[in-house]
Amino acid sequence: MKPFAYSALPTRVVFGRGKISEAASEAKRLGMKRPLVITTAQQAKSGQSIVRDTNGVAFAGAAMHTPIAVTEEAMAVLKSHGCDGTIALGGGSSTGLGKAIAFRTDLPQLVIPTSFAGSEMTDILGETRDTAKVTKRDPRIQPEAVLYDPDLLATLPPSFAATSGMNAIAHAVEGLYAVDGNPIVSLMAEEGIRALAAALPRGKDGHDEALYGAWLCGTVLGSVSMALHHKLCHVLGGAFNMPHAETHTVILPHATAYNGEASPDAVARIARALGSESAAGGLFDLARSLGAPLTLKELGLPESALDKAAGIAAASPYPNPRQLEREAIRQLLNDAYHGRRPA
Ligand code: NAD
Repeated sequence: MKPFAYSALPTRVVFGRGKISEAASEAKRLGMKRPLVITTAQQAKSGQSIVRDTNGVAFAGAAMHTPIAVTEEAMAVLKSHGCDGTIALGGGSSTGLGKAIAFRTDLPQLVIPTSFAGSEMTDILGETRDTAKVTKRDPRIQPEAVLYDPDLLATLPPSFAATSGMNAIAHAVEGLYAVDGNPIVSLMAEEGIRALAAALPRGKDGHDEALYGAWLCGTVLGSVSMALHHKLCHVLGGAFNMPHAETHTVILPHATAYNGEASPDAVARIARALGSESAAGGLFDLARSLGAPLTLKELGLPESALDKAAGIAAASPYPNPRQLEREAIRQLLNDAYHGRRPA
């Protein structure tokens, strides 16, 4: 067995239908008397009862890729009301803003996820200024508590449930061949993929199991380093403002195919979790069966961006099972652009 190091994540997790009723007591447990309650504009209404129950202050301006200008605006509201913690309700965008504030203030965070993004389980923060997305890892960024309530996913549009679920699976796929992986992370990753692949096609009936899978996949993301897949999505999101979950969905089968030969144990586990013959083909088929986008073209990426994206992804070295070859990455992006099923 490969030598490894393992550290458990310090985040408290509360899971179950109806658990939203415990949001105020969880906030109190963290010592919050006046939390900043963060949502996107779209989910402002969902945050109102938490604002009321916690004596909180609403900030409904969270946006994708955590723009620093929005964080500065939220920081001003937090300071002017003397807030002593944050409660982020929503997908990765709301969570990201809570984390950006925690990084600057070290105030406690309670996260109430309503998508499968998994950001709530990590110490990772990706912030955007202009078109550059910069990622940092810091213990202050790790949320103190997470409350998962599958009932909150009832409003999730099916198309977003599909891509958000594929985004979660991507964390587990890369966890299986991570340079700093370990046996517990691999167990969580395989079970996370299995749970999501089984639950996503069941729609609302599968929300319990899908959210459980997303928690596992988020824990994987928070435990080990990510590789080419996340790098590519990061480049496409930051430099070309591509939508996060959709981009992960399109890239994942192709990044898995790229790394397949160099990580036979990982692809065997992925295929087993999917109940499919091949990992990359199985991921493509799952996305297709969910009606998710399969091409970068339909996401609006100009074909001219592929060269630049391949160049950025191959430029700075980072651990990946297969060597980073610019031409092969360019081919991967071309396949993803046209939505070709990986062989
Ligand atoms: P999102 O949070 O932007 O959500 C997309 C839209 O769906 C938003 O308008 C949101 O309000 C809405 N929405 C979310 N849940 C809903 C629900 N249950 N019902 C109705 N509407 C709902 O998208 P996302 O994919 O969850 O998160 C993407 C962001 O998270 C990106 O910025 C990405 O970089 C970040 N992220 C970070 C990490 C990390 O570890 N740092 C991990 C994953 C994602």
